[in-house]
Amino acid sequence: MSEATAILAALREALPVQTSPIPLHEPFFDEDEIAHVTDCVKSGWVSSVGRYVTAFEEALAGYCGVNHAMACVNGTAALHICLKLAGVRPADEVLCPSLTFVATANAISYTGAIPHFVDVDAARLTLCPQALRMHLKSIATTRDGGIFNRQTGARIAALVIMHTFGHPAAMDALLEVAAEFGLPVIEDAAESLGSYYQQRHTGTFGLLSALSFNGNKIITTGGGGAILTQNSALAARARHLTTTAKQPHPYDYIHDEVGYNYRLPNINAALGVAQLKKMPRFLEAKRALVARYQAALTTIPGVGLVTEPADSLSNYWLIALRVPPHLHREVLEATHAAGIHTRPIWRPMHLLPMYVACPRAPLQATEALHTSIINLPSGYKADLCVN
Ligand SMILES: *Cc1c(COP(=O)(O)O)cnc(C)c1O
Repeated sequence: MSEATAILAALREALPVQTSPIPLHEPFFDEDEIAHVTDCVKSGWVSSVGRYVTAFEEALAGYCGVNHAMACVNGTAALHICLKLAGVRPADEVLCPSLTFVATANAISYTGAIPHFVDVDAARLTLCPQALRMHLKSIATTRDGGIFNRQTGARIAALVIMHTFGHPAAMDALLEVAAEFGLPVIEDAAESLGSYYQQRHTGTFGLLSALSFNGNKIITTGGGGAILTQNSALAARARHLTTTAKQPHPYDYIHDEVGYNYRLPNINAALGVAQLKKMPRFLEAKRALVARYQAALTTIPGVGLVTEPADSLSNYWLIALRVPPHLHREVLEATHAAGIHTRPIWRPMHLLPMYVACPRAPLQATEALHTSIINLPSGYKADLCVN
């Protein structure tokens, strides 16, 4: 049996028996979602005002242990507003991982700023604090109360930390580097609802954070996202900017700056209220699947899952397998041929045409991971339907 065939057999053993193909991820709904959406439609309040938006925001803030949550149309829009409110301006640079979903870099671009890529830690898959510090020491200079890139002359305005596949980044060390250089921190927590770093929910460390509830995330509102912050002034600004900057008034329509139509519709929030209640079940089902993959893969040398860091509790949103680079394509091919929808990790941002010319630190770990990580089917639907 070839190595790729052995891996395929192990995955088959771990996956629940269900009709082919087995998707990478899929949402799970029951009568509760149907009841909430039906109630929302019957109320007539399906758009950007309604009780489900408020209920969803309150439930989210409570779940994450944060003062304020503002629901948005999607995670990318949430991240865009986070960056604006952190003071990112056109022509600034914003530090972020190259190993991320494209939305991280796109949101930076929407502000007119330029992504500046930093390497990740090979074990955690998230920003490497040592690499970040070393890079800033070699390229950054402090003047006029800000930090600047000596090579480009641009101001470095912020640091975006992303929790890859739900595995929390090394927050203590990263926050220390950010403080050392006076950088505001934004967390792209789009993938990490239900993940904790040292018992504190991801997305509660940064000045502002973004969540996503896209159809493939751990919970979904169809499309959706949220901004989290502990700061009431920033929360008020986020609410204002995401609702076309309309001044509150019983009938007048007065807008006092260029705002955005980024608020989550009530009908999507209705789904969110039902989904958030299922988080404990979803987290449990993910762990059960991880355990089955681990048990099935133990006999194959050089191959193993990416596991949660010792200081963290991960939601295991997308389960990731490490394979030797020479097997990477072969495993992708074999699994797809067998109806198992695996996926390589994203092509790193610095290799995409619109971001090739962006400033960057050395990215060895990112490039090595690009040819070794494979995401495995991580859905919980089959398991929850059986129960
Ligand atoms: C999903 C995701 C987003 C935002 O996605 P939306 O589809 O806009 O909700 C942002 N960053 C990362 C890392 C993501 O995985």
